[in-house]
Order: sequence, then structure tokens, then C-alpha cells
Amino acid sequence: MYDLIIIGSGPAGLSAALYAKRAGLSVLVLEKNPMSGGQILNTYEVDNYLGMPGINGFDMGMKFREHVDKLGVEFEEAEVLRIEAKGANRIVHAQDADFTARAVLIATGASHRKLDVEGEERLAGRGISYCATCDGAFFRGKTTAVIGGGDVAVEDAIFLARICKKVYVVHRRDELRAANILQEQLFALPNVEMVWNCTVSEIFGEEQVQGLFLYDKENNRQRKLMTDGVFVAVGIVPNSQPFRNIAATDPNGYLIAGEDCRTSTPGIFAAGDVRTKRLRQVITAVADGACAVASVQEYFLQS
Ligand code: NAP
Repeated sequence: MYDLIIIGSGPAGLSAALYAKRAGLSVLVLEKNPMSGGQILNTYEVDNYLGMPGINGFDMGMKFREHVDKLGVEFEEAEVLRIEAKGANRIVHAQDADFTARAVLIATGASHRKLDVEGEERLAGRGISYCATCDGAFFRGKTTAVIGGGDVAVEDAIFLARICKKVYVVHRRDELRAANILQEQLFALPNVEMVWNCTVSEIFGEEQVQGLFLYDKENNRQRKLMTDGVFVAVGIVPNSQPFRNIAATDPNGYLIAGEDCRTSTPGIFAAGDVRTKRLRQVITAVADGACAVASVQEYFLQS
């Protein structure tokens, strides 16, 4: 029996573990993968976290984990299937074991959204990737296309432009959603070409990706774009599936919780990218972890 079980070991979960341990709570962190850090592990560079300019995402994850390890926080590898509220107990049912606590913090983050077009499933891992920093090196000297117009798509394209001969950025509108500073860097690269107002209708290739069929919305016609690799960066979906029975979600599947991280069920909290919020960044996830523990302590005093 723990005071607090934290599900997820990204920035929100690790920050909560730090605050909980310092507050004298008994705490267990359940992580699906043996590597802590969450999405930043696949981020080449994080340049907007105060005090750590230009840090590599993997190094940042390791720093976060080291800090928490110094306090002696307990970690366990477990895939959580659901949470049950039984009186004052919150029972976490995982694949191979059950864990009980007075409160549970869900900090499971979010995952890559798929394009859901023909060829995507068949050619995944055969030229289609969802992580430029993981797979970019396979495309050295080749042609790649990045799909999307957000921060991730633009960061991926900048990263790939250092490795690839040519990088197309395919976006469904005529302006990017990404931060201006990233756009400026992107537009200055000579081997990047923007493909505006186009959606992907098919990714084709026999054994490996050979190219894309695009629908050009402006001219109302199909286009063919030859490319060796496709990097899909069209946003994220919350990892909230196992918790939808216990905590209310918004239409996009995010767990509804305010800055206090309280969900619709007392004793169940949500922090980081999995909860409803305006800005999903490392710094806001870390802040959530701290706020969530303050709310957990308040909940213990009230219950
Ligand atoms: P995002 O900001 O939601 O951008 C997703 C992009 O994909 C948008 O341009 C969107 O187009 C496009 N898109 C969505 N569905 C599509 C579809 N089916 N077909 C084609 N295009 C589609 O997601 P993100 O770039 O993954 O970033 C996620 C969050 O992390 C954001 O809040 C971002 O600011 C944050 N982030 C921050 C940093 C940083 O600060 N260094 C780095 C990475 C990520 P529309 O523009 O037309 O909607």
C-alpha cells in the first residue's frame, strides 16, 4: 500500500515523484518502458527549457531520472490496464500485478497520431517513421518528406536537412503552425522545399517507400512525390485509453483536469500531456507534476 502511485515516467511523472518523495509520501512509479523520459527521449534538441539551452532530449531525460534516483524513488515496469476505486483505496490493475495506493497520478503522456492512409501500416518501418531523431540516420544522402506543420514537423525537417540530400515538408495548409523561430530556421535551409496545401492520400512502394500520392487542394488534383522516406509528424493523441472508465475525457480523449490536476474521480489525478491544457511542453509537464502533488496532499488532508 503506497500513498501515491504515479503511472508514467516522463517529465510530469518524474517531477511528481520528486515532489512526492520530498513531501515524505511513500511513492511508486510504474513505467511501461524500462527507459524514463517519455517523448523527450526522441527529441534531438530542447531549446526552450529554462536553464538548459540546446540540451539533447535523451540527456535531459537521463538528468531528470538521475535526480529522482538520488531520492531513492521506487520504480517498477508494468503496463497498466485500468484503475479501480474501492472505498478509500485506488487499485491499479496492471498486466501481471495489482498495486494499491491512497491516490493515483496518471502521467502517461501522448503518442504519435497516424495519417490513416493506404500504405501507412504496410510500409511502417520500411521507409515510414514517426521519429526523425531515431531513424533519420537511415536516410543519409537520400530524399525524405516530413508530413505536418507543427513544431515537431519543422524540428524534424531541420534535423533531416543536415543528413538528407533533399527534404520536402508537406503541409495541408498554406501556413505553418510551428513557432516563428523554427520557421525562420527552416526557410533558410537550401535543401528544404515546402509543399503547401497538400494532403497525403497514399504512401506507395513495394518493399520500401517509393513515394507519396498527394491531393493538391488548391488545384484540386492528384500529385506524385518521389521520396525514399516519410516522417509523419501530425500531432499527438493522449495515452488515456485505460483510464476512460474512471476519469472523464474531452472529445479528443484528454483527461479533463485543471491546473490542480484533479480528475472527475477523487483520488485520481492527471498531469502532463495526457490532461486537458493549453500548452504541452516539457516545462508545463514538469510544473504539472509539482502542482499534482500539492493537490494530492490537499486531498489527503480533506479525506
Ligand atoms: P501539433 O502542434 O498539433 O501539430 C500537428 C500538425 O500536423 C499541424 O500542423 C496539423 O495541421 C497537422 N496535421 C494534423 N493532422 C493531420 C492530418 N491528418 N494530415 C495532415 N496534417 C495533419 O503537434 P506537434 O507538432 O506534434 O506538437 C505537439 C505539441 O508539442 C505542441 O503543443 C507543440 O508546441 C509541442 N512541442 C514543442 C516543442 C518545443 O517547444 N521545442 C517541440 C516539439 C513539440 P494544421 O496546422 O492544419 O492543424
